Amino acid sequence: MVAHSPITVALAGNPNAGKTSLFNGLTGGRQRVGNWPGVTVERKEGTYRYGAETFNVVDLPGTYSLGAYSLDEVIARDFLLAEEAEVVVNVVDASNLERNLYLTTQLLEIGAPLVVALNMFDRAQRTYDVDPAKLSELLGVPVVPTVGTSGWGLENLRAAIAAVARDPRRARPLELRYGSEIEPHLAELAGDLANLRGFAPALRPRWTALKLLEGDDNVQVAVREIPGGGALVEEAMAVSDHLGRVIGEEAEVAVADYRYGFIRGLLRDVLRLRGPSPVRLTASDRIDRVVTHRLLGIPLFLAVAYGLFELTFTVAEPIVGFFEAGLQALGSRVAAGVEPLSPLLASFLVDGVLGGVGSVAVFVPNIFLLFLVLAFLEDSGYMARVAYVMDEFMHRLSLHGRSFIPLILGFGCNVPAIMATRTLDSRRERMITLLVIPWMSCSARLPIYVLFGAAFFPGRRGLVVWSLYLLGIVLAVGAAKVFSRVLFPGESAHFVMELPPYRLPTLRGAFLHAGERSWEFLKRAGGIILAASVLLWGLANLPPGVAYAGRDSFLGTAGAALAPLFAPAGFADWRPAVALLAGIGAKEAVVSTLGVLYGVGGEGLASALRTTFSPLAAYAYMVMTLLYIPCVATIAVIRRETGSWRWTLFAVAYTLIVGWAAAVLVYQGGRLLGWG
Ligand code: GDP
Ligand code: MG
Repeated sequence: MVAHSPITVALAGNPNAGKTSLFNGLTGGRQRVGNWPGVTVERKEGTYRYGAETFNVVDLPGTYSLGAYSLDEVIARDFLLAEEAEVVVNVVDASNLERNLYLTTQLLEIGAPLVVALNMFDRAQRTYDVDPAKLSELLGVPVVPTVGTSGWGLENLRAAIAAVARDPRRARPLELRYGSEIEPHLAELAGDLANLRGFAPALRPRWTALKLLEGDDNVQVAVREIPGGGALVEEAMAVSDHLGRVIGEEAEVAVADYRYGFIRGLLRDVLRLRGPSPVRLTASDRIDRVVTHRLLGIPLFLAVAYGLFELTFTVAEPIVGFFEAGLQALGSRVAAGVEPLSPLLASFLVDGVLGGVGSVAVFVPNIFLLFLVLAFLEDSGYMARVAYVMDEFMHRLSLHGRSFIPLILGFGCNVPAIMATRTLDSRRERMITLLVIPWMSCSARLPIYVLFGAAFFPGRRGLVVWSLYLLGIVLAVGAAKVFSRVLFPGESAHFVMELPPYRLPTLRGAFLHAGERSWEFLKRAGGIILAASVLLWGLANLPPGVAYAGRDSFLGTAGAALAPLFAPAGFADWRPAVALLAGIGAKEAVVSTLGVLYGVGGEGLASALRTTFSPLAAYAYMVMTLLYIPCVATIAVIRRETGSWRWTLFAVAYTLIVGWAAAVLVYQGGRLLGWG
C-alpha cells in the first residue's frame, strides 16, 4: 500500500452560509474539535476518503471579508495565505449571492485554488434561476450547487475537490480589475514589491499592493519588516491619499465599490428572476434597467455624448473668445514694442511664437472641458455601463467590452489610451485595440474641428464635430473587425463586465482629474508646439530674402510638392499640406501651423481659410486630420507597447492610406451629391 499524505481542504464562507452543514456532510462522524493556535476560537477538522485519497477538511471561521478587522478574519486570511490548504471550498449562500460573493472576490484575489459550493440551492431556486455553469465560466473555477441540509450535491462537490487537488490549473481564478485610475498604481506597486529582496512570494505582490492601498494595518506591518519595505508603505499611503482626492472617496471604499461592481455585473449574467423581484429595486437598479438596456443603451450613449459636446462648446465659447481677444491684444503690443528694434524679432515673436502656441492655447478651455466630461463619465460609473452595453457588440468584433474603455480614453489622448490596453488579458485583443485607438479623435484634434467648424459650419458645429467623432468610431470598429479576421484570428473569452455603483462625482474630484490631465497635455504639447512653431517659422523665412511664409520659402516649396496629392480631396493649396506635415509632430500643430502660414489667428484665420477651402473641402480636410498618421508621441507608444517596428510602421501606413482615401471619398462623393 502507498501511504498518501492527506489533502487539506479548507471551507471558507460567510457565517450561516452552511459551512458546518457541508462539513458534517463531507466528513460524517470523523471529526475533532480544537482551538486555533494561541486563541480560543474553535477549530474543527475532519476527514473523508474519496477514491484512493484521504481529505482533511478544516472549517474556517465564518467571515464576510478577508480584511483584518476581526480575529476570525485574520485567522481565515493567515491560514489561506500560508497555503496550508490544497483546495479552498468557498461555501456561498446562493439565496444571498450579492453579499456572499464579496468574500469570493477576495478569495479569487489571493489566487486560492477555489471550488465554489453554491449552497442553499434549494432556497435560491424559489426566487431565481442560477446558472452554475455560467458562473463557473466567468469566475474561472468549478462551481457545484449543493444543499447542506440534505446532502444533495455532495458527491459532485467531492469530485470537484479531488479534480482541483489533482490539477490546480482547473481553478484558474480571474483577476479583478480596478479601473483606469487605480490599476496603474496597483501594477507599479506590485512590481516594486516583487522586486524587493526578501519579499515572500506567498504574499502575492498584487494582493499585497492592493492591501497597502486599502491601508491594511497588518499588511503594512508585514511589509515594513522587509528591508526597503518601509519606503513602499509610505509610497502606497501617498498614492492612496492621491487616489482619495481624485476619486473623491477613500481608496478602500473605491476598491470595495469595484468588487461590488464586479458582482453586479456577474449576477446580471448568471441570474434569471422567476416572476417579479422579491426585493425592491434600488435607484441604481432602476437606472441600469434603462442605461444598460439591450436596445436603448447604445442610442442613449450616443445622445449623451452629443449633448455633452454641445455643452462643452456652449460653455467654452465665451472663454475662448476672451482668450482670443487677449492674444490679439498681446500680439499688437509686442509688435508695436519690438518692431522698431527689429522687424525680424517681432515677426518671430508674433508670427512664430504667439501665432503658433497661442492659436492652440486658446482652445485649452475646450480641452479642459472635454477632460472634465470624461472624468465625470468615468467617476460616475456611467462609463462602465457603456462598456457593459458594448460588450455584446464588441464580441461580434471578437473583442471584449473591456476594450471599449481604452477606446473611450482615446478621446482624451491616444497615448494613455494605448497604455491602458495593458489591462486587457489577451495579446490579440490588445493588439487589435491598440491599432485602432489612433482613430479615436483625441483632444488635440478638437481645435482643428473647432476652427473649421466655426469657419465653415457656424450653425452646425456640434453636429459636425460629433459626426467626426462618430466617423472615427465607425472606422475603428470596421478596422477592428478586419484585423480580428485577417491579422489576429481567434475568439474572445467571456469575462464579467463590472457594474460599479453609481455615485455623484464630486466637483473637486472631477476638476482635479481634468486639471491633472489637461496639465499633462499642455506640458507634452507645449514643448512640441513651440519647437514645431519655431522650426516652421524658420522654414517660412528661408532661404534668406523670401517673403515670410511665401510660396518660395522652404516651407512653401515642400507644401507645393505635396499639395497635388490632395487635389482629389479638394484642398490643393500648399499651406494645408504643410500643416498636415506639422501635424505628425503633434495634431494640435495643424492649427498652429495654419496660424503661422496664414499669419493670423482667431476669426482672422477663419476668414483666411474660407479663401482656400470650400465647406466640402474643409470637411474632407477634417476627415484627413482625424485619420492620417498618428502623432509622434502615439507612434512612440505604439512602438513601446507592441515592441515591434513592423506593427508600428503598419499603424502609420494603414492610417495614412485610409485617411487619404476617406478624404477623397468625402470630397468626390459630396460633389456627386451636389454639395460643393
Ligand atoms: P455556517 O454558519 O456556515 O456553519 O452554517 P450552518 O451550517 O450552521 O448553517 C446555517 C443554517 O442554514 C442552519 O440552520 C442549516 O440547517 C441551514 N442550511 C445549511 N445548508 C442549507 C441548505 O442548503 N438549504 C437550506 N434550506 N438550509 C441550509
Ligand atoms: Mg459553522
